[in-house]
Amino acid sequence: MADKPHQNLAVIGHVDHGKSTLVGRLLFETGNVPEHVIEQYREEAEEKGKGGFEFAYVMDNLAEERERGVTIDIAHQRFDTDEYYFTIVDTPGHRDFVKNMITGASQADHAVLVVAADDGVAPQTREHVFLARTLGIGELIVAINKMDLVDYSQDTYDEVKADVQNLLKQVRFRSEDASFIPCSAFEGDNIAERTGNMEWYDGPIVLEALNDLPEPQPPTDAPLRLPIQDVYTISGIGTVPVGRVETGMLNVGDNVSFQPSDVSGEVKTIEMHHEEVPEAGPGDNVGFNVRGIGKDDIRRGDVCGPADDPPSVAETFQAQIVVMQHPSVITAGYTPVIHAHTAQVACTFESLDQKIDPASGEVDEENPDFIKSGDAAIVTLRPQKPLSIEPSGEIAELGSFAIRDMGQTIAAGKVLSVDER
Ligand code: GDP
Repeated sequence: MADKPHQNLAVIGHVDHGKSTLVGRLLFETGNVPEHVIEQYREEAEEKGKGGFEFAYVMDNLAEERERGVTIDIAHQRFDTDEYYFTIVDTPGHRDFVKNMITGASQADHAVLVVAADDGVAPQTREHVFLARTLGIGELIVAINKMDLVDYSQDTYDEVKADVQNLLKQVRFRSEDASFIPCSAFEGDNIAERTGNMEWYDGPIVLEALNDLPEPQPPTDAPLRLPIQDVYTISGIGTVPVGRVETGMLNVGDNVSFQPSDVSGEVKTIEMHHEEVPEAGPGDNVGFNVRGIGKDDIRRGDVCGPADDPPSVAETFQAQIVVMQHPSVITAGYTPVIHAHTAQVACTFESLDQKIDPASGEVDEENPDFIKSGDAAIVTLRPQKPLSIEPSGEIAELGSFAIRDMGQTIAAGKVLSVDER
C-alpha cells in the first residue's frame, strides 16, 4: 500500500444524504473491511436468519458504534484502490468538523459531495461547497445518491445535477473540476460496481472517479513550518514540543525559531512513533528537543521554523472570508476568536475593505458598513495577542483560518497578506 500515492479525501454533504453509507459501501466492496469482521457479520447474519446481508451488517455495526458513542464512524477510515491509498479526513457531522477542515487538522486534497436525489441541494450542501471552494479543494466528485428512491429516473438526476452546477457556478468552482455520478450507496449501484439500473448513464462510477483523481500536489519547497500542539517535559530528555510538520523539513542540528514566543536553539533529537529519527517532513507527527529551550519558553500555537527564515508574526493581516452563519451582521470592531493551525487568538475586525460578489468574484462594494451570512469579503484583522500566520499564496498550510463565536464556526478565511510586527 505504501508505494501508492496517498490522498486525503473529504466526504461532504447534507446530513442523512448517505455519506456514511457510501463510505461503508466503498470500504466493503474494495475489500477494506477486514475478513474476520466480515466473517463475524456473516455468522451473526446467519444466526438471525439473514444470510447474505453482510453489507447491511457493516452499516448496522457502524451505526451501533455511533450510538455507543464510539466515534469510529467513517472519519479516519482507510482504503486503497488500484491507484491510491485513501484516508477519509474528518467528516461533517463530527463536532468541530468545519473548524478542523479549515485549520488544516484535516486538510483534504479532494472531496466527494453526496447529494440525495430525493432531497436535492440542502443547506449543508451549500455550506460545504462554499467551504470546499474557499479552502481550495482540488476536485469534487458529486455523487447523486439514493437514485433507487427516485426510480433511477434520468430526469430527476438531470434536475439535481443542474441545481448543483448552479451552486458551483455561484461560488465559482470550475465546472471542469467536478464530475457527476448517479448512484445508490444502499443498493450498491455505481459505487464500486456498475449497475444495470441506469443504462442511460455511461460515465465513470464512484470508484473509477476516485482512481481518476489527479495526484495530490507534491510537497512545496516552502520552508519548515511546524505548529506546536503541546509542550511536554520528559525526564532524561527535557522539554519536548510536539506537533505536525506542515511544510519543509526538520533535521537534527537545525537552528530553529519559535514564533511568536521568539526563542531559538539547535534541534538535538527528533522522535517519531517512539523512535529517534534524523529528520522529519510534511505530514510527520513529531516530538523534538531543542537545546536551551525550557517548558515555559514556548507554548501551543507557536510555530517552529528555520532561525534564518522564521514564521511571520502579524501586527495585522488582510484576508478573504466567507461568512457562513452569523445571527446578525459583522461590522468593524467585532472581535471573535480566530482558529489558525494550533493557535486561538481573539482578533478585531479593523476594517471591512471590500464586499465580493461570490457569483462573479468582482468587487460589489468598497468599504461596506457591514457583512452578513452568505457574504464574501476582504477584511483586515488585528490579533489581540501575537499570532503567527502566513499568506496562503506563500504557505497555504498556514494561511487559512476559522472564525468562531458563540461556540460556532461563523466564517472561513484565507490570508492574503501579512503586515508583520
Ligand atoms: P449521512 O448522515 O450523510 O452519513 O447519511 P447515512 O449514510 O447515515 O444515511 C442516512 C439514511 O439514508 C440511512 O437510513 C441510510 O440507510 C439511507 N441511505 C443512504 N444511502 C441510501 C441510498 O442510496 N438509498 C436509500 N434508499 N437509502 C439510503
